Amino acid sequence: RIRTWIDQVVRQDEIDPYLEQGKPFINEERIWREIASGSNPTPERVRDILKKSLEIQSLSPEETAVLLNVKDRQLLREMADTAARVKQKVYDSRIVTFAPLYLSNHCVNSCLYCGFRQDNGGMKRSRLSMEEIRRETEALAGKFGHKRLIVVYGEHPDSDIDFMEKSINQIYQVRAKTRKGHGSIRRVNVNAAPMSVEKLRRLKNVGVGTYQVFQESYHPGTYSQAHPPGTLKGNYLWRLFSMHRAMDAGIDDVGIGALFGLYDWRFEVMGLVHHARDLERRYNGIGPHTISFPRLEQADNAPFLNDMKYRVSDEDFLKIITILRLAVPYTGLIITAREPAHIRDKAVKLGVTQMDASTRIGLGAYSRETDGQEISSQQFMLGDTRSLEELIGDLADMGCITSFCTAGYRIGRTGERIMKLLRECHEGDFCRMNAVITFREWLDDFASPEIKVRGEALIARELAGINRDLPKYQGKFRPMYDSTCRGKRDLYL
Ligand code: SAM
Ligand code: SF4
Repeated sequence: RIRTWIDQVVRQDEIDPYLEQGKPFINEERIWREIASGSNPTPERVRDILKKSLEIQSLSPEETAVLLNVKDRQLLREMADTAARVKQKVYDSRIVTFAPLYLSNHCVNSCLYCGFRQDNGGMKRSRLSMEEIRRETEALAGKFGHKRLIVVYGEHPDSDIDFMEKSINQIYQVRAKTRKGHGSIRRVNVNAAPMSVEKLRRLKNVGVGTYQVFQESYHPGTYSQAHPPGTLKGNYLWRLFSMHRAMDAGIDDVGIGALFGLYDWRFEVMGLVHHARDLERRYNGIGPHTISFPRLEQADNAPFLNDMKYRVSDEDFLKIITILRLAVPYTGLIITAREPAHIRDKAVKLGVTQMDASTRIGLGAYSRETDGQEISSQQFMLGDTRSLEELIGDLADMGCITSFCTAGYRIGRTGERIMKLLRECHEGDFCRMNAVITFREWLDDFASPEIKVRGEALIARELAGINRDLPKYQGKFRPMYDSTCRGKRDLYL
């Protein structure tokens, strides 16, 4: 049964149309030439490139390569400062928060770095039942106060599109009791294996927000080493064009990523930039909605981790974030709880826009009374186990407001519309107001008295800012904010 299913997944007729003269947009030799051509850049050249980023224009691969080659301390500082300014210009001081929810860890693949790989006999396997999904969602929306999830599936016939549809529908239906009424999950993003256009259309129809697939490594040789040929995931091109197919299926918020530590990080950054540019070129300027840059973490029984030749240092990791912020200035940047708190805090300053919190990646772990991590049922180990409330407090200390906004895809601000607004720095106007409304909800429904005090100060600052900078929206915004204070929920602009 599984073999028959596997044989039907990859469709060559959904790879070929995206090739140009038989070739994909990633060309190994060209990337190395580009990296070499950027070496020893003059300060003037670097500063010209930074100016372009500040105008919220995507950088070309050649320009990105110049930044990859910067070693001068002063110029590196200027890059970090510019990245922070780009973030401020496009996203202000908001951080969007979410939680991952693992729904099934059955997998037919054997990625050599992942605890879920089929060959790992020690892994406890399960797929959550609809009742378990209801309980997990109740905990997430009722106990923690989350509004956005990313659901994660292994690749297996039992967690294929039928199960995805059912599980996402189940999540959207849950109404969990809170202090002032009920809480619910309003945006479900998905991290799942590449699919055909037909399955992606079904995913779109069930109401997903962003669809994420990480290429893991853009370097074809490394990709083959980490993903045994003959397995489904062993097909590099099927994965490389998964976002193209998603766009063609009508999902226009797509999330790309690379797993840093598999190969030379400079090559992977170039791969991500080529990917973003190819999407922009083919889909009316619509690039990735988000970019993720997970670093390889310790996983159970994962042979790739024995030889960490390409381990990325903290210093290089922060440089990766800086360069991505500058190269694709409009895109959301996600840093997950794989990373320790001190690195996540630094990343916020450099331009990250989304973080998870209260994260548990063991199956069924949100509704269980445990805070611990259990490697025998987790994909990898977490570095930051702060609760949502702790994270909100720490972000407040850095001057950042946590946003639970889910308006974008519900109001149709996706794809081309959102890209235009982001590039013109106007998406922030809506996000800014929605951040305050949703933060107000969270403070009233979930915050402890101590966090409430700190939160009120943030809200006062934001209200004054909105009053000053966005007078034309006051007539719409203020009544919504006031109704929210009186207990009305889920209002947005
Ligand atoms: N099975 C689907 C796939 O592989 O695309 C989706 C889920 S997979 C669980 C999500 C992501 O986890 C992978 O794309 C990979 O980048 C990441 N991952 C796997 N093993 C990891 C590890 N040891 N450390 C950090 N991230 C890891
Ligand atoms: Fe399966 Fe995804 Fe893990 Fe690979 S990374 S073994 S496809 S769950």
